Amino acid sequence: MAKKLELFINGKFIKSETEDWLEVLDPSTQEVLCEVPFATEKEINLAVESAKDGFLEWRNTPPPERSRVMMRYQELLKKNQEEIARILSKENGKTLEDAKGDVWRGIEVVEQAANITPLLMGETVENVASEIDSYSYIQSLGVCAGITPFNFPAMIPLWMFPMAIACGNTFILKPSEQDPMTANKLAELFLEAGAPGNILQIIHGGKEQVDGLLKHPDIKAISFVGSVSVGQYIYKTGTEYLKRVQSFAGAKNHMVIMPDANKAKTIDSLVGSSVGAAGQRCMAISVAVFVGSSKEWIEDLKKEMEMVKPGPWDSEESSFGPLISPQAKDRVLKLIEKGKEEAQCLIDGSKCDIEGFPNGNWVGTTLFTKVKTDSEIYKTEIFGPVLLCIEVETLKDAIELVNANPYGNGTSIFTASGRSARKYRHEIEVGQVGINVPIPVPMPFFSFTGWKQSFYGDLHAYGKQAVRFYTETKTVTERWFDDDEKSSKNLTINLE
Ligand code: NAD
Repeated sequence: MAKKLELFINGKFIKSETEDWLEVLDPSTQEVLCEVPFATEKEINLAVESAKDGFLEWRNTPPPERSRVMMRYQELLKKNQEEIARILSKENGKTLEDAKGDVWRGIEVVEQAANITPLLMGETVENVASEIDSYSYIQSLGVCAGITPFNFPAMIPLWMFPMAIACGNTFILKPSEQDPMTANKLAELFLEAGAPGNILQIIHGGKEQVDGLLKHPDIKAISFVGSVSVGQYIYKTGTEYLKRVQSFAGAKNHMVIMPDANKAKTIDSLVGSSVGAAGQRCMAISVAVFVGSSKEWIEDLKKEMEMVKPGPWDSEESSFGPLISPQAKDRVLKLIEKGKEEAQCLIDGSKCDIEGFPNGNWVGTTLFTKVKTDSEIYKTEIFGPVLLCIEVETLKDAIELVNANPYGNGTSIFTASGRSARKYRHEIEVGQVGINVPIPVPMPFFSFTGWKQSFYGDLHAYGKQAVRFYTETKTVTERWFDDDEKSSKNLTINLE
């Protein structure tokens, strides 16, 4: 019988009492890795109660002490990076090297959380009126919750709970039910780092469990990362229940290629950023916009893309892994079929067999040219190893095309011209821009700043914006009297 994955409530891994279990499958083989529980309402309430209790003490724990927990956590994550990556690769399918990167980019956020104290400093002004001083404190919110997608099972949970917890909150994580084992490992190490048992809880499940969190009166803030339709639902429902919500959603990311760009670097970057992780990255480049004569590079791009093959996570031959599920594969195959009607298919990855792995969710690299902006393959986030090519005459045309797209997560321009790069970064309506950098995911002292349909909310993940999201500001106005001071009534709102 497959191992039953546990919930993490009040500092203990416990077996769920639910009757609702889902098999977690190895995407390369369909081998059952474990069964994940869909937590009961009682278990969700237990987790929230424990997090509420935890908050009473944790909010009063001095920030430097909270930071020390994060420092020990960072150390443990580094020590266990390979082991976490192996769990992650097995359940998600991405290659071991890529999985290590997934863990590493999360560790960087933990480092930011360990250094958070200066960001928790308020402001002061002396003499805002005669002998009246004003100052502000940054205080924690309470119980916060996070709902995360399958594609970065380490990095995205680590975007959320270390920052929220370093700000003095407690946190309930609902990881993706498709690859939930990594989250349990992250919780195990957090406990080992000396974190009090009730400041992080893990609830497994799907929509029903997410609804339980969205509607729970004791949860103050919701962080979500996932698809557009669910992201919109989370934002609408969370705000309807009067919570703070930050909701990161899907994308269609363009790379603009100028004829003066470094050709070899451009082609390598295009290949890596479009089919790496089987295209299952929210910052993957899914559209290449060739400006002017750079379209002549498409033949060479095709040759390079043909050399890149999927395979199992633990083989050094594999450039990327399988798709997460047979359903995800079917969806991508249907879009490839549609693409063959709508555009010109230069590489068709829909028939992809990997020796020794007949049941894997394989899709090979796929390349389309002559793609039109009203086609389904352009309008839909494919989330597979599929790159679309579009040709335009000028940089201005490229900017207009990208700005007309409803998504605004990431984009990049490859060029040798500072003038073109500046124009692009200034005019483009996308929240994260790379200049000769294909996947410009910001470091954690910045924030992850998707725009348009790629983000619903105001304050983004990690960096200073996360501190604002996970805290309240309290402003104090203060005066002290002399014993013999004369008194008179002030009937106005002026400070006197
Ligand atoms: P998903 O929306 O299917 O699932 C995300 C989470 O929501 C999971 O925990 C899932 O259990 C839960 N969920 C699913 N359906 C739900 C429903 N109807 N109601 C409530 N909760 C529900 O996303 P996914 O397939 O796991 O992840 C891929 C998507 O995530 C892609 O669209 C990708 O672009 C996006 N993504 C965005 C970012 C970003 O920063 N913008 C980062 C990573 C992934």
